[in-house]
Amino acid sequence: MKRSIEKITPRPARPGMVGDGFRVFNFIPGANISQRRISPFLLLDFNAEFDFGPSEKIRGVDVHPHKGFETVTIAYKGSVEHYDSAGSRGVINPGDVQWMTAGAGILHKEFHEKEFSKKGGPFEMVQLWVNLPKKDKSTPAHYQAITASQMGKAELPGNGGLVNVIAGVFNGVKGPAYTYSPVNLFDIRLNQDGELTTTIPAEQNASLLVINGSIEVNGKKAEEHSFVLFNNDGEEITIRATEKAVVLLLSGEPINEPIASYGPFVMNTQDEIYEAMKDFQAGKFGVLD
Ligand code: MN
Repeated sequence: MKRSIEKITPRPARPGMVGDGFRVFNFIPGANISQRRISPFLLLDFNAEFDFGPSEKIRGVDVHPHKGFETVTIAYKGSVEHYDSAGSRGVINPGDVQWMTAGAGILHKEFHEKEFSKKGGPFEMVQLWVNLPKKDKSTPAHYQAITASQMGKAELPGNGGLVNVIAGVFNGVKGPAYTYSPVNLFDIRLNQDGELTTTIPAEQNASLLVINGSIEVNGKKAEEHSFVLFNNDGEEITIRATEKAVVLLLSGEPINEPIASYGPFVMNTQDEIYEAMKDFQAGKFGVLD
């Protein structure tokens, strides 16, 4: 049975800045899409294509903590460099994903890659926050660098396009990301009139963001930069590109546990939030210059 659509939300009127390097439209929870409704996703920030121009000062967000969830950064255009207190450093380029599990706590910083920053050019990214089940909130921090070439690849029939499977399973093709609860994350590239049909279990919360182009989804039109939230009344999703399109489809089994969140900390109770703040202030998340 086809999933019906609860609502299609256009891009919010104004972007916000994260540091000086990410000019983002916030859809979750900003566009009236609550963390409970869309669990396990906590946040979706979309840096729609924007050229910051050449800059000698490297743009980005300086050292900050995270605890209790995962940050997932998907690069569409431009490059991002990351450093963290676990000693990791990495660069993601167009098509790549960084899946960071903050778990027990981490400090990191996120900047435009140096050469990219100097040259400038189109920059397009999504950052998602994915909640962790209570039992995994204390898992040691780590991250998965997932390059475009490592993703599952599903070619669509009739030269329809390509689905890069980041996490979960698309029509039998598996993605490489390790997740702590069932999550599907698909980077969908459709040629004009390209079409796909897939099924997502009805109990999973499912949505999609039209990164570029425009589509028809389960019979409804979704314009560029709009966000589609599906009801949990069926499995089937059919997408057709009315023009060449890039779509991010995200779904996941809801984590039915209380959410207590304060800025970069997402726990289950207010006491755990105080604990997280104390641990952060006591330097327990490590050191990062
Ligand atoms: Mn961060």
